[in-house]
Amino acid sequence: MSDICSKNDCTGCKLCSYICPKKCISFQKDELGVLYPVIDKDKCISCHLCENNCPAKQDLEYKMPQNVYAGWSTDLEIRNSSTSGGIAQELYKYALENNYSTYGVVYNNEGGGSCDYIKVESIKQIKKVIGSKYCYADLSTIFKCLENDILNDKKVLFIGLPCQVVAVKRMFIKANKIDNLILIDLACHGVVPSEYLKQHVSNISKKYNKDVSNVTFRDKNSSYYLSLYDNNFQKFYSKNPYQDDVYYRGFTNNLALRENCYHCHYARNERISDITLGDFNGSKDSRISESDRKQVSVILENTKKGADLINYLIFNKNIVVFKQNNIIESIKYNKALNSPAIKHKNRKIFEQNYIVTNNYKKSATKALKSELIKYRILFLPKKSLKLVPKSIKKKIKKILNRR
Ligand SMILES: Cc1cc2nc3c(=O)[nH]c(=O)nc-3n(C[C@H](O)[C@H](O)[C@H](O)COP(=O)(O)OP(=O)(O)OC[C@H]3O[C@@H](n4cnc5c(N)ncnc54)[C@H](O)[C@@H]3O)c2cc1C
Ligand code: SF4
Ligand code: SF4
Ligand code: SF4
Repeated sequence: MSDICSKNDCTGCKLCSYICPKKCISFQKDELGVLYPVIDKDKCISCHLCENNCPAKQDLEYKMPQNVYAGWSTDLEIRNSSTSGGIAQELYKYALENNYSTYGVVYNNEGGGSCDYIKVESIKQIKKVIGSKYCYADLSTIFKCLENDILNDKKVLFIGLPCQVVAVKRMFIKANKIDNLILIDLACHGVVPSEYLKQHVSNISKKYNKDVSNVTFRDKNSSYYLSLYDNNFQKFYSKNPYQDDVYYRGFTNNLALRENCYHCHYARNERISDITLGDFNGSKDSRISESDRKQVSVILENTKKGADLINYLIFNKNIVVFKQNNIIESIKYNKALNSPAIKHKNRKIFEQNYIVTNNYKKSATKALKSELIKYRILFLPKKSLKLVPKSIKKKIKKILNRR
C-alpha cells in the first residue's frame, strides 16, 4: 500500500495512477486479494499530484436533497429490465438524445471476468450496462474518454457509485469544466473485490463444465439472484443469497466488502451528486398499488441541475413519480443513505483464512458456516424437512444457538 491514502479510505478509483506524470503507480493485490496503489519509489519525483488529487482526500460540498420521489420509467420494457425503477435507463436515453457523453458498467468475461466501465453510445449498449453488478468496477477504463470529453468541451452525464462520482468530479474540477457535468450516484452499501467474483465464477464454471458469457445479480422481477450464462446465453446457474451462494452472502451480509466500504464517506443523507438513485420500499407509500411495488426507485433531487433533469423526464412522461412529504423519513430505511455497512462479526475469521489459503470459497464458507446451514434448512422444501431425523434437527439447532 502506498502512502497516498489509507486502506480505510482508498476506493481503488485509480485516479492517482492516471494523474501521475511519471506513470509510476501500479495496482497490486494485498494479502486479501484487494487492489491498492503501489508507488515505484525509484521513479517517483515527489510532486504530490497523486495525493493532492486523490478523491478520498478532497473536502466535498455535501448537499441535503431538496426533494425525494418514489418513481419508475413509464416504459414497461425499460422498467422490467432494470434493477429497480429503470430511472438510469431513462437518463441514458436522455444523454444520447441530447448529445451528452455517458458511461456505464458491464460484466466483461475476458481475463477471468471483471466489471468495467464503458462509454455508452447506442441503445444496444444501454442494455449492456443496466442492472447492478454487485462487485468492484474499474473506472480507469474510461479515464482517457473522459479526458477527451474535457478537451472537447463535451457535456457528460455520469452514473456510478458515490466514490466513483467523486473521482470523475475531481477530474472536471481540476480542468475547470464542472459546468459540463451531470452526476448521478447510486445508493451504495459496498462492493466486493473483483478477485472474489473471479474465483467464484471460475469455480461454478468448472463445476458445470461451461464457459461463462455473462453474470447478472438481479432477475427479471428484481429479486436478488446471482445468475451465470453460457456461451449460448442460456442461464445455467441461479441462486439467491439465502441459498448457499457464498459470493452473494459475502456481499449482502457485509463479510467480503472492500475495507473502505466499512468507512464510506458517502453513506449519508447529504449527497455529493446532482441526483441519487436507489431502491424504494414501495410498501412505505400507500399511493403505490400492490402490483407496482416491486420495481420502484427512490430518486433524490440534490441540486438545481438535478431538479431540472428530473422535471424534464416528468414533463415528457418518461417517468412517473410520487413526491415524498418527509425527506428524512422517506430514506431512513435505506441503510446505504444513512451510514456505512457494519462488518460481519466473523470478518476476522474470513481474513485469517484468506491470508493463508488465498481461497474465497474456503474462507467465506468457514466464516459463514452456521449461517449457511441455517439458510439451507430454511430453504428445504417442507416435504424434505419432514424427512430429517429428529436427532439431526436437534444437532443443527444446537449449532445455530451457538452463533
Ligand atoms: C455495488 C452496488 C451496491 C448498491 N447498494 C444499494 C443499496 O444498498 N441500497 C439501494 O437502495 N440501492 C443500492 N444500489 C443501487 C440499486 O441496485 C439500483 O442501481 C438503483 O436502485 C437504480 O436502479 P435503476 O433501475 O435506475 O438502474 P439499474 O438498472 O440498476 O442501472 C444500473 C446503473 O448502475 C451502474 N452500475 C452497475 N453496476 C455498477 C458497479 N458495480 N459500479 C458502478 N456502477 C454500476 C450501471 O452502469 C447503470 O448506470 C447498489 C448498486 C450497486 C452497483
Ligand atoms: S482513492 Fe483512488 S486516487 Fe486515492 S489512493 Fe486510492 S486509487 Fe488512488
Ligand atoms: S508523487 Fe508524483 S511522481 Fe510520485 S507517485 Fe505521486 S504523482 Fe507520481
Ligand atoms: S460503499 Fe462507499 S466507498 Fe464503498 S463502493 Fe460504495 S460509495 Fe464507494
